[in-house]
Parts: sequence; structure tokens; C-alpha cells
Amino acid sequence: MALDTETLNLLLDAVRRFVTDRLVPAEDALAHSGEIPDDIVAEMRDLGLFGLSIAPEYGGLGLTMEEEVRVVFELGQTSPAFRSLAGTNIGIGSQSIVLAGTDEQRSHYLPKLASGELIGSFALTEPDAGSDAISLRTTAVRDGDHYVLNGTKRFITNAPIAGLFSVMARTAPERKASSISCFLVDAGTPGVTLGKPDKKMGQAGALTCDVIFDNCRVPASALLGGEEGNGFRTAMRVLDKGRLHISALCVGIAERLIRDAVQYATQRKQFGQPISEFQLIQAMIADSQAELYAARCMVLDAARKRDRGENTTLEAACCKLYVTEMVGRVADRAVQIHGGAGYISEYAVERFYRDVRLFRIFEGTSQIQQLVIARETIKAYS
Ligand SMILES: Cc1cc2nc3c(=O)[nH]c(=O)nc-3n(C[C@H](O)[C@H](O)[C@H](O)COP(=O)(O)OP(=O)(O)OC[C@H]3O[C@@H](n4cnc5c(N)ncnc54)[C@H](O)[C@@H]3O)c2cc1C
Repeated sequence: MALDTETLNLLLDAVRRFVTDRLVPAEDALAHSGEIPDDIVAEMRDLGLFGLSIAPEYGGLGLTMEEEVRVVFELGQTSPAFRSLAGTNIGIGSQSIVLAGTDEQRSHYLPKLASGELIGSFALTEPDAGSDAISLRTTAVRDGDHYVLNGTKRFITNAPIAGLFSVMARTAPERKASSISCFLVDAGTPGVTLGKPDKKMGQAGALTCDVIFDNCRVPASALLGGEEGNGFRTAMRVLDKGRLHISALCVGIAERLIRDAVQYATQRKQFGQPISEFQLIQAMIADSQAELYAARCMVLDAARKRDRGENTTLEAACCKLYVTEMVGRVADRAVQIHGGAGYISEYAVERFYRDVRLFRIFEGTSQIQQLVIARETIKAYS
């Protein structure tokens, strides 16, 4: 159920203040240390950020999709690594359980995910199965009251700090969706090991690594929903939601970048006047602002459709494609408006330029979004 307007505005104000007063001043330190300080994590927990999308009966805020994207528009105004810490719990690390978990699985995991006491990770990608996720090789073989998992998952967000992995594994050999099941695997289970943290282009403080399953025995009760064959379909539903969430994040970042660029342009003088008075600079600001407006409208429209219970596979892919490409263009213009300073790490735009490159790659690359959009469009009109 939607929040009343006053409660939603209080939440949005609280998140906005937290971002401005606590996260923005901590950006540089995070970029250097790659670590989010414990007091900030505690404040994120107190604000309910880990449980935005988890129902109140499990301790979350139970936001509608529209409310969630509006909160994420605010969270986007700072380094995306802060959002990444809570991002898997809000999205890909909890939603399999929300959508398809048994009552026991929900009451066991969701309260801990909602509070941030437990970090959840989503383990689909493998060394030889990225965009072609259905060809994944990790196996789960039934052995009495257990399953035995073997395989390697790659680039798994928050894996180094995760307590729970939602692992997509093959329970049948055929290359089809119904051959893949999802298992809820606790991080301490014997047979689970982690690779070294990946060194990434950007988003310092957002952690990824390999997760290796070597004869890892889990009880049959770890099978999501208690049924084999639902893993891939559930993962795709989880990604439909995740794509809207990432799009909302990119809207927030674009707004921040435009603000930074305008502030710089009004202060920086060349040829005796602020560069913001040059029409070629104004054209970059205008293009960015127009694209941001389009992106914000798309994301809100798709979120409202989702809240009405409509299928938003097409809309989520359109948002992910357009908005992640848009924020790349906005970041590029922000660097250009800063001139040489934009290439120097003292200025936030340099960092954001690298940070946003990821969004066109994970949770389905831009090319995969194009394939989804084309498939859904051809289906609708033929
Ligand atoms: C920082 C980071 C965090 C991540 N977090 C997670 C996570 O938490 N969980 C998880 O499971 N995964 C995660 N991933 C993995 C991510 O989802 C994959 O990297 C992504 O889906 C692309 O897969 P790939 O890297 O194997 O690229 P590939 O699939 O090898 O793609 C390489 C190129 O080929 C293109 N391509 C592939 N197939 C086609 C096609 N049919 N038509 C046209 N072009 C095509 C792609 O668009 C891309 O340009 C993460 C990745 C990164 C970098």
C-alpha cells in the first residue's frame, strides 16, 4: 500500500538531508579508502534503506515502485557505491525470496535483509555465461535431503560482505529456463569460497568478486520456493524490477552531474565572462537537462505501470537502455564543461564519469536491452 503524501515527503526529505549532509562530504574518503564507514552504514540502516522494497510485516518500508524510484532519485545524488551497499538487499539480493520464496524462507531471511543485518547477493553470471545466462554451468545435484552445488559465479556484487547468496544453478541438463533453479546459500556453508575482490574502473567501495561452489552441500530446504525449475524465470522477474531501480539511480546521478556542471560553469570565467554565458556551453546543459527530463518521466511512468500490476518487461528494458546511455552522455558533457578540471580527480565529475560506465553493462547490457525491446515490440505488433 502506498504511503500517504506527508509520510513519503518526510522520507524523501530525510534521504535528501542524509545524502547532502553525510554522504556527499564522505565521497572523497570513500573514493580513496574503498570503504564505507560503519557510522554511515548504521545511519543507512536506521533510515530503512536496506528494506525499501521489503514488506512491513518483514520489517521493511514496503514502498511501491513509484515510491522506491523517488527515493532512489535522491540516493543517486552521491557516489553510487553508497547505494550499492543497500542495493542488493533492496533488489536482486532479496527479490527472489519476495517473489518466489516459501513462507519459511521469507520469515527467515527478509527481516535480516530489511534491517541490513544480512547482506544478500545475487549470483547468476559465470565466466562463460554473462549475457547468455541460460547457458550457466553451475550444477545442483540432488543427494537425499540435500543438493550438492559445483561451479563458479563471476562479478558478484557485495559477495565479499554477503551473508546470503541467491544462486542460479542447473538442476537439469537441457538448455532451457526450466532447467535452472535458485538456491539460498548461507555464506558460511562449507564448500563456498570467495575470489579476490575485483579491481574495477570505478565505484570504489562497491565490492564484487567470484563465488566458488566446490561440493557445497545445502539442505533441500534451500531450494527457492521448494520447487525445481523456477530459478531462471524468477531471476528475469527480479531483473525487470532491478532495471527500473538502476534507471532511477541514473536519473539521480544525471541531476547531480548537471548541478555540478552548472555550478562550475557559472563560476569559471574565460574571455572575461562566466563560461555559462557561452551558447555552446548552454547547448550541452540544455541537451543534458532535456534528456534528464525524458528519463525521469520514463522511469516514473514504468514504475506506476508496475504498481498497477502490469507487465513492465518492455518498459524496464526501455528505461535501462535509454537512461543508462543518457547518464553516460550527461557525464561526458559534465567533464567537457569542466575542461581540464574535469579530467582531474579532485572534481567529482571525473569519478562519476568512470562510475556510470558500469550501468550500461550490468543487469543486462545495452545490447541485451535492445534485444528485449525488439522481441517485445515484434510480439506486440505481429
Ligand atoms: C561491477 C559489476 C557488478 C556485477 N554484479 C553482478 C551481480 O551482482 N550478479 C550477477 O549475476 N552478475 C553481476 N555482474 C555481471 C554482469 O551482469 C555481466 O557482466 C553482464 O551481464 C554482461 O555479461 P558479460 O560480462 O559476460 O559480457 P558478455 O555477455 O560476454 O558480452 C560482451 C559483449 O557482447 C555483447 N553481446 C552479448 N550477447 C549479445 C547478443 N546476443 N547480441 C548482441 N550483443 C551481444 C554484450 O552486449 C557486450 O557488449 C556484474 C558485473 C560487473 C562488471
